[in-house]
Amino acid sequence: IDWTEEAGWHDARLQPYGPIALQPASAVLHYGQEVFEGLKAYRHDDGSIWTFRPEKNAERLRSSARRLALPELGTADFLASLSELVVADRHWVPAGAERSLYLRPFIIANETFIGVRPAHAASYFVIASPAGPYFESGVRPVSIWISTEHARTARGGTGDAKCGGNYAASLLPQQEAMRNGCAQVLFADAETGTRVDEAGSMNLFAVTRDGALITPAASGSILEGITRDSVIQLARDQQIRVDERDVFVDELCDGLATGEITEIFATGTAAAITPIGQLKSPAGSWGSVDAATGPVTRALRDELTGIQHGRVEDRHGWLYRLDA
Ligand code: PMP
Repeated sequence: IDWTEEAGWHDARLQPYGPIALQPASAVLHYGQEVFEGLKAYRHDDGSIWTFRPEKNAERLRSSARRLALPELGTADFLASLSELVVADRHWVPAGAERSLYLRPFIIANETFIGVRPAHAASYFVIASPAGPYFESGVRPVSIWISTEHARTARGGTGDAKCGGNYAASLLPQQEAMRNGCAQVLFADAETGTRVDEAGSMNLFAVTRDGALITPAASGSILEGITRDSVIQLARDQQIRVDERDVFVDELCDGLATGEITEIFATGTAAAITPIGQLKSPAGSWGSVDAATGPVTRALRDELTGIQHGRVEDRHGWLYRLDA
């Protein structure tokens, strides 16, 4: 769907996946004026196709767009774009416990000019790709690398928007994480370097000795994950206390060593809930501590993925049918 200031959103069309034409002076290529979303379509046992809380993705795409001075797309148009694509691509939606069709909606500034100002034209796309199990042989804990040199965002920045630039800044620390044998990087806050923000593409939770969950508060520097919000609600349904507050790197590392923290997990659309088996950091900082995958992580993961795949009752009305 295209957008201009004069015409608004117009010319919605479905076309085969392929190259798109952009002028070399297109604003998105120079100033990173771009926002995106990520969600999944799941095939249930009866063949019907569903997605999970897409209204939240629509809302987040709008707030990201506002931050990046891009036009906002209404929820109805967003939902219609997903349904239309998924119905056309229905054969690409895999069946199976951990399988799905990944959907990637995005908006780019699409005006040709050189000069730093918001573009007067934009385009919205949705592309799709089948996703296999995130964990090939059952859920396994991953290691996380605590970045001491780089922050993901700073106060007043774009940390709570889902825009390409945030990920551009995260790639070097992510590379460092992978070089150190870790699946993801963990960012601390930019101001003090002591508070946990989030992982490269996941929000972080810890389970305390008394069975409560702690997770960094949405202070403007983390992306407020839809999985994060769902986990908080599922935990509270089970009378598990959830504290959204400052969580310190020390608190996690020391807590794992003393038993004050019993489990750590990360949440995101890609893997739903990922147990964290190890926190590692550069020599001379926090060192390396191991964590075990525990019952709280397992139970929350089973419930959440059960709802998404239609095996567990959807008490909150989170599922949205795409092929009806
Ligand atoms: N933080 C970041 C930086 C992310 O990229 C993601 C993935 N969208 C998340 C958190 C988790 O968000 P969600 O649960 O909505 O996928």
